[in-house]
Amino acid sequence: MIHPNPSQTPDVSDSSVRSPNMVGSCPICGRPLPANQTACSPKCRAARSRQRQEAKREERDAKMRLLLTEALGLLSDVNAPHGTAKETGSSPDH
Ligand SMILES: [Zn+2]
Repeated sequence: MIHPNPSQTPDVSDSSVRSPNMVGSCPICGRPLPANQTACSPKCRAARSRQRQEAKREERDAKMRLLLTEALGLLSDVNAPHGTAKETGSSPDH
């Protein structure tokens, strides 16, 4: 009779330095964090929010640059003389 031993489990006694509640990590200093926290200290939280604002500003800048480029393109379109050389090549006149 062969029956597998149900009580045969790998030993998980130690080697877990962090407590199981620490599932996250501080985005600023990298310390382990509890699940319901986004930063380990008010200082880190402030730094994090500042980082977020900066990212947002960069995103906005990129968008503005795109719009500006478009606007400038429109401007140059208006300023350009009508009927510019879009069709190039030999004229079939002759
Ligand atoms: Zn931190």
